[in-house]
Amino acid sequence: MKIMKFGGTSVGKPERMHQVSQLITKNSEPTIVVLSALSGTTNSLVGISDALAKLDKQGAISIIDTLEKHYRSFILDLLQSEELRAKANAIIDEHFEFLKITQRISLSDALNKDILAQGELMSTKLFSLYLEQEKIEHALIPALEFMRLDANEEPDLMVIREKLNLILAAHPTKKLFITQGYICRNAKGEVDNLKRGGSDYTASLIAAAVKASVCEIWTDIDGMHNNDPRVVDKTIAIEQLSFDEAAELAYFGAKILHPTCIWPAQQENIPVKLLNTMEPSAAGTVIKKEAGTVGVKAVAAKDGIIAVKIKSSRMLLAYGFLRKIFEVFEKYKTPIDMITTSEVAVSVTIDSDLHLAEIVAELSNIASVEIDKEQTIVTIVGNEIAQTASVLKKLFDAIDEVPVTMVSYGGSSHNISLLLPSTYKTKTLQLINRGLFNL
Ligand code: ADP
Ligand code: ASP
Ligand code: MG
Repeated sequence: MKIMKFGGTSVGKPERMHQVSQLITKNSEPTIVVLSALSGTTNSLVGISDALAKLDKQGAISIIDTLEKHYRSFILDLLQSEELRAKANAIIDEHFEFLKITQRISLSDALNKDILAQGELMSTKLFSLYLEQEKIEHALIPALEFMRLDANEEPDLMVIREKLNLILAAHPTKKLFITQGYICRNAKGEVDNLKRGGSDYTASLIAAAVKASVCEIWTDIDGMHNNDPRVVDKTIAIEQLSFDEAAELAYFGAKILHPTCIWPAQQENIPVKLLNTMEPSAAGTVIKKEAGTVGVKAVAAKDGIIAVKIKSSRMLLAYGFLRKIFEVFEKYKTPIDMITTSEVAVSVTIDSDLHLAEIVAELSNIASVEIDKEQTIVTIVGNEIAQTASVLKKLFDAIDEVPVTMVSYGGSSHNISLLLPSTYKTKTLQLINRGLFNL
């Protein structure tokens, strides 16, 4: 079994859906195709929810109307027969009626998740009609029937595997399956999602669940690049990454991959390929167990970081003190990204301010606490980077004008992380592109 995931831009136009249909019928291996919502749709759905939360009914209605018009004209180009267009219009009716009804119900977290799920539900149903038109045999399998979160809001791989295998077994003659990325049900059985960009995660979870031969992520660029192409002018695609390298890049901001989507594929040792729908013959990037080469491979940046500086002249390195600090973060389910220590202080970074006030209040009972907001983590990733001659010298020579506030080095052999004020992010990525990658 092969998994092929197509992102928003890959299904965002009728001609792209045509391209996707060609790519998925090229191979003889049974295939599960995971689709995102059409590009822009999830942003619009977030806009609808935000407007409802602010009781801005008119704002919500205006986004719904614009989106509906987009879908009505999309299907005119996608489908030729009146019969299929009527079926597509009925699908659009159903989903937009739901969106319009939300104006009359008060917004809850569960309703918000229902709204966000409409994009993937529509893209897969419309794509299925397109396959019907092209006489391509397939089965549409609903992600809401097998993608599950556990009580800790983490994907429950055992349950996903069990449910998905039962669904596949009910279609013994089918070789092509279409399903939704991003959406799932939580432990309470409500509609939920895997967070923004979550279709990559769906693909990797399905790959692990069926022990696929490969998990292909088809997007709008020819693989993982050495730097963020939205920020610097010249970037190059990387041929091969290890699972660990790719996981670090995804977690620390390389938008091409969802932050935690590598672990399921890694657990089953399934190669992940990053490929370009607009340029299918490009080599792309393969992510597997072996790193391929030694040395610096890429840099990524993660914004919205908060530094928490904890100082205590008396008892910092006394045993038990670090445990007390970590327990506070654990209590508020707030993961720590970076950490550095000295004799009198510990600094950590977090990426959520949801419980910041409570965390600061509790830490203040045992130490003095300072907060720096609007920070960015810049992470340089490469195999055995820590042992590679002159990387550190080149790095710090390149960025000597940047006020680095924290450094994390040696935690793993493939990562150096720096913390800096977000206003320096663009400059830093540009300087590193020149100094470390000669681009
Ligand atoms: P999709 O909708 O297919 O999931 P995304 O927009 O989520 O696509 O991810 C692809 C985008 O990620 C690219 O268009 C690119 O701008 C951005 N990106 C950021 N960092 C990187 C990187 N290091 N390599 C490649 N793409 C990157
Ligand atoms: N449609 C969702 C989003 O835009 C999931 C995805 O595209 O991966 O975040
Ligand atoms: Mg994405």
